[in-house]
Amino acid sequence: MRGRSTITFLKAPKMNPSHALPSYLEPAGVGPWGVFLQQVERATSSLGELAYLVETLKRPKRILIVDIPIKLDDGSVAHFEGYRVQHNTSRGPGKGGVRFHQDVTLSEVMALAGWMSVKNAVIGLPFGGAKGGVRVDPRNLSRRELEHLTRRYTSEIGIVIGPDKDIPAPDVNTNEQIMAWMMDTYSVMHGATSTAVVTGKPLALGGSRGRRDATGRGVFVCGRAAAARIGLSLEGARVCVQGFGNVGNAAARCFHDAKAKVIAIQSVEGTVHNPAGIDVYKLGAHQQAGRPFAEFAGASVVPNESFWEIESEFLIPAALEQQITVANAGKIRTRVLLEGANGPTTIEADDILTANGILVVPDVIANAGGVTVSYFEWVQDLSSYFWTEEEVNGRLDKIMSDAFNALWEAAGEAKVTLRTAAFTLACRRMLEARHLRGLYP
Ligand code: GLU
Repeated sequence: MRGRSTITFLKAPKMNPSHALPSYLEPAGVGPWGVFLQQVERATSSLGELAYLVETLKRPKRILIVDIPIKLDDGSVAHFEGYRVQHNTSRGPGKGGVRFHQDVTLSEVMALAGWMSVKNAVIGLPFGGAKGGVRVDPRNLSRRELEHLTRRYTSEIGIVIGPDKDIPAPDVNTNEQIMAWMMDTYSVMHGATSTAVVTGKPLALGGSRGRRDATGRGVFVCGRAAAARIGLSLEGARVCVQGFGNVGNAAARCFHDAKAKVIAIQSVEGTVHNPAGIDVYKLGAHQQAGRPFAEFAGASVVPNESFWEIESEFLIPAALEQQITVANAGKIRTRVLLEGANGPTTIEADDILTANGILVVPDVIANAGGVTVSYFEWVQDLSSYFWTEEEVNGRLDKIMSDAFNALWEAAGEAKVTLRTAAFTLACRRMLEARHLRGLYP
């Protein structure tokens, strides 16, 4: 006999922000994830009715930690730790790079995934945010070992990635070849060639023209738009760049082409300086030839600590997180800080820079050129129709300039920094999508 249900329906408990967080989210306020949380916090008061959902952004949707055992060339087996974090997928599939670095931690990957969510929402790309990483120093691996590590990592995270689930891309120490191996591994696992599962691939495998330089180009587009707003001329403007990898190198070339003067570059090998301007094409060729940075004839070597004190119009951190802290923020003498890296500035340093009248163009817009062209690549793969480099660069330029200008207006209206304006806009977009979708079940 069917009786009345004995289930008692409790009134939904109010979301309690002090509710114990999952252990991996603690301690809050420390490390990159702590920085991300504080940035979300600063936007919360402007979220209006959507603020009731903000807890959603303070914990990643999905975290996968994988063990990656590989056979090394000497026959022994080594284990590496890998991660894939999907921070938010309310607006679309997860999207974000994979980094190989010996210091990668779960907290770092969580923050990077969060910044991807914000970045994609600020630009208006139909993606959520995700990020992956493997704790490994790839310089210690042979090419065969690197390929095996990449393939095993891909197969381990294969359960959560896919062209409409989560789409990886290059990041620190990963490149087109690594994306090719990832795409091949996923395709073999699924018995079908799936080009749209990763972006940043070689052209021959469905990569997009313009992808390689896209992040650096986007940094330049934001710099140009910021300069126009504050009446700064690019011609002769002094530019300092930290990091001479994919992002720093391309950004330096764009500024050089616009007749700005790149006067200092810091790489992992050291810092070079030339007040008359460095020929960044020659430095790139020098590096490409495998020659030591310090032997470059077109600039002199200066101590690493002095880099932050060099006077400039544009300073571009394009290396790793947390480079600008209370220890060096006060010494920085620039007009515009363009965050080519993800999370290069701590919260306290951000406040010092702003108080000192430096315009900070935050990572979530400044370095969004890479993922924007990744979006173009994904669209091209899904439609099997490929664009010219002019089309790619033209659309990148338009999307990024429009996004920058919208942010500038929003920040001016709300009288907040560009970063807080970006987080506010992004959180609103994510939470509006969350609200419309509703909670399952
Ligand atoms: N790794 C880049 C970033 O941090 C690009 C990500 C992508 O293309 O998905 O934005």
